[in-house]
Amino acid sequence: MTATILSGKELATKKREQLKLEVERLKAEGVSPKLVIILVGNDPASISYIKGKQKASEETGVDFHLDHLPESTSEEELVKLIEHYNEKEDVDGILVQLPLPDHINEKTVIETISPEKDVDGFHPINVGRMLTGQEAFLPCTPAGIVEMIKAADIELAGKHVVVVGRSNIVGKPVGQLLLNENATVTYCHSKTGDLKKFTSEADVLIVAVGRANMITSEHIKDGAVVIDVGVNRLETGKLVGDVAFDEAINKASVITPVPGGVGPMTITMLVSNTVISAKKRLS
Ligand code: NDP
Repeated sequence: MTATILSGKELATKKREQLKLEVERLKAEGVSPKLVIILVGNDPASISYIKGKQKASEETGVDFHLDHLPESTSEEELVKLIEHYNEKEDVDGILVQLPLPDHINEKTVIETISPEKDVDGFHPINVGRMLTGQEAFLPCTPAGIVEMIKAADIELAGKHVVVVGRSNIVGKPVGQLLLNENATVTYCHSKTGDLKKFTSEADVLIVAVGRANMITSEHIKDGAVVIDVGVNRLETGKLVGDVAFDEAINKASVITPVPGGVGPMTITMLVSNTVISAKKRLS
C-alpha cells in the first residue's frame, strides 16, 4: 500500500481563499480584522514563524502589526503592552511569540492576554472552554489537524486515536478535540513503557514529539492515518518530521508530509481565529 499524502499546504491555500472573502465582507461592513504579534528577543526560529504568520495575514487581507521588543524587555513592560492592546477596539487578536526569555514568566504573560483576543488559544479560560465543549479560541495546531482530518473525510467516531506527546500546545489539546469528535484517545509520552504496543494499535496516529524519524513503519498499523506534527532540522539542513516518511508511506493509508503538512494549517488557523474574533465586533 502507498499512502495518500494529505497536503496541509493545499488545504491551507483553499482556506486562505475563503478567509480572504470573509475579510472582504467584514471590511465592507467597516471592520478591518487586525492581528498584533509581540516578539521579545531575536530567536531565529521565532522570527521565521512570524514571517509565515505575516504572509498568511497579508494574503487574506488581515492587518498585521509586529512589535519587536529587545531581549532586555521586562515582564512588567510586556504586561503593560499587552494590556494596552487588550483595550484597543481595533485589535482582534494578540499573540505573544513563545518561547520568551528566561526572565519573563510565560504563564503570567499568557494570562494577561484577554481571553477574547487570545487567538493562540493558550489562555486557561479558552483551554477550559475547549475542555467543557464551549465556544473557544482553539489552539492553532490541534485545530488545523482536526480540519485536515475532516477535509479528507476520515471518520473519527469510534476510531482509536493515539497521540504521542502531551504538551499543552499540541499533544493534550489535539487529543481533547478528537475526543470531542467521539474518538477513543490514548496518550503516549516519554514515560510510556512500550511505545510500539500503543502506536501499532492506532487507527489514527498523531506524533508531536520533536525527534527526527522516531516513528518507523514498525510503529504503524497497516492502513493507519498518520499525522506528523514534528519539525526537526537535520545537520544537512533538511527539515523532517517525527515519522520516517519514506517507510511509513508504505504502511499508512494517509500521511502528512513535513514540510507542507501540519505547519501551513497551523498558521492558517491563526488567521481564522483572528477573523472569528473580528466578526464579534459586529454583534
Ligand atoms: P514539547 O517538547 O513541548 O513536547 C514533546 C512531547 O513529546 C512531550 O510530551 C514528551 O513527553 C514527548 N516525548 C519526548 N520524548 C519522547 C519519547 N521518546 N517517546 C514518547 N514521547 C516522547 O513539544 P511540542 O508539543 O511543542 O512540539 C512537538 C513537535 O511538534 C516539535 O517538533 C515542534 O517543533 C513541532 N511543532 C510543530 C508545529 C507545526 O505547526 N507544524 C506547531 C507546534 C509544534 P513528556 O511530556 O513525558 O516530557
